[in-house]
Amino acid sequence: MPVFDHPEFDHHQQIVFGSDEASGLRAIIAIHDTRRGPALGGLRIYPYASEADALTDVLRLSRGMTYKSALADLPLGGGKAVIIADPRRDKTPELLRAMGRLVDSLGGRYITAEDSGTSEADMRIIHETTDHVSGLGRRPGESGDPSPYTAHGVFCALRVAVRHGLGRESLEGLRVAVQGVGHVGAHLARALHAAGAQLVLSDLNRDAVGALAEELGATIVTPEAILAADVDVFAPCAMGAVLTPEVAESLEARVVCGAANNQLASPEVAERLHERGILYAPDYVANAGGVIEVEWQRHGDYRREAVMAHVERIADTLDEIFARATTSQTSPAIIADRLARERLAG
Ligand code: NAD
Repeated sequence: MPVFDHPEFDHHQQIVFGSDEASGLRAIIAIHDTRRGPALGGLRIYPYASEADALTDVLRLSRGMTYKSALADLPLGGGKAVIIADPRRDKTPELLRAMGRLVDSLGGRYITAEDSGTSEADMRIIHETTDHVSGLGRRPGESGDPSPYTAHGVFCALRVAVRHGLGRESLEGLRVAVQGVGHVGAHLARALHAAGAQLVLSDLNRDAVGALAEELGATIVTPEAILAADVDVFAPCAMGAVLTPEVAESLEARVVCGAANNQLASPEVAERLHERGILYAPDYVANAGGVIEVEWQRHGDYRREAVMAHVERIADTLDEIFARATTSQTSPAIIADRLARERLAG
C-alpha cells in the first residue's frame, strides 16, 4: 500500500497509523496541513473493506478539511481520522479511550470531532483520555450537534447558486430534490419549504422520509429515482461520490448544492457538469457551517448571532467563486481549489 506515492497523498504533513491490542483499535489519523492552525476534522468509524480503502478515505477527507477551513476563514488546518471497525458492533468505550490516547499523542496538532459512525456521546468518552476533542456541546445540557448550522450554510449557498445558475432571487416554486433527510437534509428541507420551494425527497429510511414528506407536503421518490428527478436543484445530503460520470450525463437539475462530503466521484465530473451548464457548488464550501460552529464552540465567546453571521459568509465566498468561474470560463470546483490554495499560501 503506497503512502507517499498514493494518488491522494497531496503532501500530507503527517499520517499516523495506530493500534491497540486490548481494544482492537486499528486507526489512521491524517494531518494534511497545519499552516493556518491545528488540524481539525471528524473521526469516522466505518467497516472499510481494506486498509487501502481506509487510507484513501482519510487522505481525501483531511485534504478537504484543509480547503474547507481555509475558505471558511477559520484559524484551522485540515485533518481527519478513521477507525476500521463496524460502529454498531465494535464501538466500545475501551476502543474510544484508546483512540483518545492516540489523538493525545499528537499533542493538539490534530483535534477530533464527530463524523459518521461517531456521536457526541462517543466524543465525551474520547475526552476521558484527551483534551483535543471538539463538538462536546455549547453549554451544559445543550447539544453539540452542528448539523443545523451545516444546513443553514447549505441553504445560504443554495440561494447564491440559484441566483447564478438560474437567474432567480426567490426560491418560491423552485423544485428541489433532497437526497437523504438525516440530520442535515431534514433541516435543509424545512428551510427550503419555509422559503416556498417544492420538494422531492428520498431516503433509505422510509419512516423518516415519510414523516417529513407529510409535514412538508413533499413528494417521495426511491433512492434510484432521485437522481433522475425533474427538478431545478439537486441537493445531495446522504453520502459521497454520488456525482458519477453517468449522473453528470443524465442529471435534469441545473444546480447542484448539498451537504454531502466528496460529492464528486472523480474531479473530471465537475468539468462535465460545467460543460453541460450545470452549476455545481463545491461541497466543502457549501457544507462548512458545521466546522464553523464547532470552531466557535472551542472558544469562550460563543455567540449564536456571531456564529450565524460567520456561516452566512459562505454565501459571499461562493458568490466570489461563481463570479471568477464565469469570468475565466472555468468550473467552480477548480476556482474553489485555487482560492483555497491562495489563502493557504497567503
Ligand atoms: P445522517 O447520517 O444524519 O443522514 C444521512 C441520511 O442519508 C440518512 O438518513 C440515510 O438513511 C440517508 N441515505 C444514505 N444513503 C442514501 C441513499 N442512497 N439515498 C437516499 N438516502 C440515503 O448524516 P448527516 O449528518 O445529515 O450528513 C449528511 C451528509 O453531509 C454526509 O455526507 C456528511 O458527511 C455531510 N456533512 C454533514 C455535516 C453535519 O454537520 N452533520 C457537516 C458537513 C458535511
